[in-house]
Amino acid sequence: MSGGNGLPILPGATLGVLGGGQLGRMFAHAAQRMGYFTAVLDPDADSPAGRVSHHHIHTDYADVDGLARLAGLADAVTTEFENVPAPSLEKLSVARPVAPGASAIAIAQDRIAEKAHFTRCGVACAPYAVIETAAQLAAVDAAALLPGILKTARMGYDGKGQLRVSTHAELIDAWQAVGCVPCVLEKLLPLEFECSVIVARGRDGQLVHFPPQRNLHRDGILAVTEVHAQNMPKTVAQAAINSAKSIAAGLEYVGVLCVEFFALADGSLVVNEMAPRPHNSGHYTMEACDVSQFELQVRTLAGLPLAAPRQHSPAIMLNLLGDLWFGADGTKAPPRWSEVLALPGAHLHLYGKVEPRRGRKMGHLTLTGATLEGVRAAAAQAALLLGLPALAPADFA
Ligand code: ATP
Ligand code: MG
Repeated sequence: MSGGNGLPILPGATLGVLGGGQLGRMFAHAAQRMGYFTAVLDPDADSPAGRVSHHHIHTDYADVDGLARLAGLADAVTTEFENVPAPSLEKLSVARPVAPGASAIAIAQDRIAEKAHFTRCGVACAPYAVIETAAQLAAVDAAALLPGILKTARMGYDGKGQLRVSTHAELIDAWQAVGCVPCVLEKLLPLEFECSVIVARGRDGQLVHFPPQRNLHRDGILAVTEVHAQNMPKTVAQAAINSAKSIAAGLEYVGVLCVEFFALADGSLVVNEMAPRPHNSGHYTMEACDVSQFELQVRTLAGLPLAAPRQHSPAIMLNLLGDLWFGADGTKAPPRWSEVLALPGAHLHLYGKVEPRRGRKMGHLTLTGATLEGVRAAAAQAALLLGLPALAPADFA
């Protein structure tokens, strides 16, 4: 993205972000490090990004006055979550460069449109059916799609808005339970493992990528990401990179895009979903790569050159949920940070959220080091100290 005059937006200018969560906070940090001022629009007066930004506009994402103020302050605007109303992005884009664009966000917001885009790009997804009407529900091919997962088309994250169903009767109940909103029913696949790829695309079409991440989810939430040369077969990694790039190019995307995949036992890869922004599975890039996903978000937004990232250290990232603040008997106590930080190559990120709650993303810990063995040993020790489930070698065999 370039400024209105076609030139890059240089340090000293102000970059805006819609959304005040941890992704906005890390974007603001990256932008500020490079000499930009930042402006955050978020309705929460106490948001993680709002706390660290030069400007914080406390309004709803659809508030006309708030959007006008953001456009007045910022030279270009990005977003940190996909559920920003697309009309708000359209409104902003009249006044300022906005990346990614409203049309890409609109596709990423809706699983039905998203799967249609994957198919258009020739990237396979799990077998699925669209369920928007009772007639489509009745017509579901149970033999082909059950057992399956019913997913609401919109507003799903961290496994929310998803119900597993084994029979047609359960499917009918599940659709009722989500309020008969538009959904997709996806066949439940036997996953060998999950992985994701982060790519960044500039306005000129230049595409760069990070090495694919291998991800472990617990209860529908990302728990562990492991990135090193042996984290998955080379053919799978290359297929994931190629697919992510064609998905980004097909959208004429500008910005950072994460594409999540399922790897199956037969070595094939199917796409799960995409996030039109930096992603939790890419946090390791801050310490393990020479350019982070957030710096690339800044560069794509400002129209600066995109350096191809190089990973210089193997990395394991552990997500830190609010559960870690509660002892076995339910009493609250801070995690054992001093001991965790005594581990070699431990990088602690906490997002400034005052209230720990179970399931709430409070921060993450990235372990880096000279060797994979060393990183694994430190990660295993950190998991033990934090009360996380042990990292079984089989998780990342
Ligand atoms: P997020 O946005 O936080 O990544 P989400 O709520 O959008 O999550 P999905 O990514 O669709 O949800 O699914 C969450 C997890 O559920 C997946 O990472 C995977 O572990 C499991 N899952 C989803 N779909 C399938 C499927 N078709 N077969 C097997 N497992 C699945
Ligand atoms: Mg997901």
